[in-house]
Amino acid sequence: MAAMIFESNEAAFRAASELMVGGVNSPVRSFASVGGTPYVVERGEGAWVIDVEGRRYLDYVQSYGAVIHGHADARITRAIADQAARGTTFGAPTVGEIRLASAIVDRVAGVERVRLTSSGTEATMTAIRLARGVTGRSRIVKFDGCYHGHSDALLAAAGSGVASLSLPGSAGIPDGAVADTIVVPYQEVPTLDERVAAVIVEPIAANMGLVAPEPGFLEGLRAETQRVGALLIFDEVITGFRVARGGASELLGVQPDLWCFGKVIGGGLPIGAVAGPGTIMDHLAPAGSIYQAGTLSGNPVATAAGAVALELLDAGSYPQLEGRARALATGLASVIAEAGLPVQVPQVASLLGLFFSDEPVRTYADARRAVGSGWYAPFFHAMLRRGIALAPGPYEILFPGLAHSADDVDRTIDIASAAARDAFVAGPV
Ligand code: PLP
Repeated sequence: MAAMIFESNEAAFRAASELMVGGVNSPVRSFASVGGTPYVVERGEGAWVIDVEGRRYLDYVQSYGAVIHGHADARITRAIADQAARGTTFGAPTVGEIRLASAIVDRVAGVERVRLTSSGTEATMTAIRLARGVTGRSRIVKFDGCYHGHSDALLAAAGSGVASLSLPGSAGIPDGAVADTIVVPYQEVPTLDERVAAVIVEPIAANMGLVAPEPGFLEGLRAETQRVGALLIFDEVITGFRVARGGASELLGVQPDLWCFGKVIGGGLPIGAVAGPGTIMDHLAPAGSIYQAGTLSGNPVATAAGAVALELLDAGSYPQLEGRARALATGLASVIAEAGLPVQVPQVASLLGLFFSDEPVRTYADARRAVGSGWYAPFFHAMLRRGIALAPGPYEILFPGLAHSADDVDRTIDIASAAARDAFVAGPV
């Protein structure tokens, strides 16, 4: 088939918009909240993406955290090609899924068993069903501004794309589907009762911008869930294997009952995982009576890419990631403030947020107030014009990865200085 050649992003996105709803296959990719036309990616190279016009952008989206080694890392693409040549999916157990499951179990204390899925959404959905099945209870507690994928029961007060599009929630979800979902503010330990099956939380919130848990919050959730016999679920789809070798539970020293993973463990291919001790996990079918399945679950190509991605994260990787993120945080905070804009640049390990606010952001209400200042869109566009790609939504975070060099960080800070001055002149929208 002939390659499709587009002269401009406008032309490519026009074609995309005729063929796909809103021109995208996930709403967070649209420019609805910042205005303008998305760059249409033709390919990626390390820290960079290149659009159909041949423009290069230093990319801090990195597939919203699915990529940690940079785009088209040769070691990962080789693993993908090797596996593809041996078959892409079988419908039988494979050596590749054993390799990835073993890498996960080795890295996360408390995890004995894994169920691989094809997305993070499926992982959280499965974790909720498992918790309900194991406890025989219905209610689940989630936190305002935490995103756990797009399943009906979890799409309440979900931050991320729903918030960027200023939607109150999603249409099409019947009241009954969320009748047992209780939403409470982040940082507050709710008093639970015996009707609660599970509390699900992003241990480091990364879908309302970046919000670190305050001391005592996760410990409090651990104690309160234990008190009433509910399960604590850490959604580590973003934090898993990114903030530390063993993820957020290792970094923060709190162990949940169940973990959800995704993104990094697929090396840039579709994946998710529910994980935990055998005593809980073995309630899933076929060992137990809680059903969950997937034709492409544990896909050989995804597990091959993911296993290599995890193996490449060695002892030096985490200090390097954190060093880049810290340098970016310090530099961005300083140059944006110098330009006269209110700014907070929270950073936890390798994760980085950006709020245009004078006040620190500790809850979703704070995040919404910061977004309401209207500085994200002009800053985003001023950065993009100068070749730096941030996510096109104010509730998303930055993903500096192993392909971002120290020079890339310096360049980003220099450009941010000019971009912040441009934004100041343009004014908030
Ligand atoms: N959980 C968290 C914390 C996420 O950030 C995401 C996606 O961004 C998900 C779950 C859903 O994962 P997926 O998009 O693979 O379905």
